[in-house]
Amino acid sequence: MRSAQNQGSGAIKKKMNGYVGFSNFPNQEHRRSIKRGFNFTLMVVGESGLGKSTLINTLFESKVYPTKETEVETPARTGVEITSVSADIQENGVRLRLSVVDTPGFGDSINNDEAWRPILENIESRFDAYLAQENRVNRSKIVDNRVNAVLYFIRPSGHGLRAIDIEFMKHLHTRVNLIPVIARADTLAGREVETFKARIMADINFHGIQIFKPVSDQFDDPETVADNKAIASKVPFAVVGSEKLVDREDGTKVRGRRYPWGVIEVENEAHNDFVSLRQMLLRTHMEELRDATDVGLYEAYRTQKLLALGHVQDNGVFREFNPRQQLEEEERLHGAKMGKLEAEMAAVFRQKVQEKEGKLKQSEEELHSRHQQMKSVLEKQRLELEEKRARIGTGMQQQNTSIDVVAAAHPGEPVQRMPS
Ligand code: GDP
Repeated sequence: MRSAQNQGSGAIKKKMNGYVGFSNFPNQEHRRSIKRGFNFTLMVVGESGLGKSTLINTLFESKVYPTKETEVETPARTGVEITSVSADIQENGVRLRLSVVDTPGFGDSINNDEAWRPILENIESRFDAYLAQENRVNRSKIVDNRVNAVLYFIRPSGHGLRAIDIEFMKHLHTRVNLIPVIARADTLAGREVETFKARIMADINFHGIQIFKPVSDQFDDPETVADNKAIASKVPFAVVGSEKLVDREDGTKVRGRRYPWGVIEVENEAHNDFVSLRQMLLRTHMEELRDATDVGLYEAYRTQKLLALGHVQDNGVFREFNPRQQLEEEERLHGAKMGKLEAEMAAVFRQKVQEKEGKLKQSEEELHSRHQQMKSVLEKQRLELEEKRARIGTGMQQQNTSIDVVAAAHPGEPVQRMPS
């Protein structure tokens, strides 16, 4: 019986004494994988002529992709296209369904500011297609076209990353495993390659770009840890591709590029990093790249997408969202918003009316007081005139009395009277 201590959240850690059989699981998994085969989708991005097709064919040792035999001047394009080729490759009975997605036109336009956008859209549309299949009732035949890695080809300029490289990586690094490679590394001198790599990594770190690098964990044996470290130290891989075999001085043939001063061998680690790239991409980290796509990048995209669609996450599980409920909720919020707006408008209207009324009252009072003022001035003038008239009337009466007195004193004489 389990002790109370062991019940609940913690799992019991126990080493088996006898053989039960589940340690055979990796072999079962191995058989299942062989039976089903693997899918791997690799995208190549970089301007024309950097050797993308050549490198893909060199990596898979087959003509997966058509290459140009001679270097041709690429005409300026107006946009980025996305094309894809698939190949069924078999090695020791293991089937690999390889899809190579090319992005012709990237970096070939006069204005490359938005060159990253169609590529990001393509990667996200592949996630969307996968998500739609996951949501179907029958999920037994899911086609997985998600991009597992992008080989990003950096022009061998020796100067560091260009704006187009930084913009691309900044916009894509949360959606895909980025593997930067220095294209046509044979055109750079050995010392130049090291300083160029250091500059590129400084730019990548400065811009907070996440790139794919092999890492080790507690389960890895010391040999694997050392191998992973060695591969990680080569990033960004300075690569040389060639579909041709050339003669070495000792008469043997190798895959490489011939120069007047000698041969650059593709598979010679002292000459370039092709072997380390192939090791990581195909031999040791292919499953890790697929896993990082599924568990890390796709899961993050899915969460973002579902949350944006209004799904609610409960303890890591998305609750189905009810469109009717959502609509009602939106209507309720809209109604509340409109009500608030109406109340605000009514308050503003009331305030304006009050202000107008106040102003009218004030001018009415001013008019009234002016009227009163005028009235009292006129009244004063009227009184003054009355007084004057009264005074004149009294004066005339006195004058007539004195004339009568004179007339009485001198009877028969004419008397001059003032006109009344
Ligand atoms: P893409 O347009 O990027 O696919 O370039 P291609 O693979 O068609 O190669 C364009 C030209 O570059 C061809 O002439 C190739 O032979 C040449 N090329 C490819 N890889 C290399 C390389 O690593 N070094 C050099 N010097 N030339 C290369």
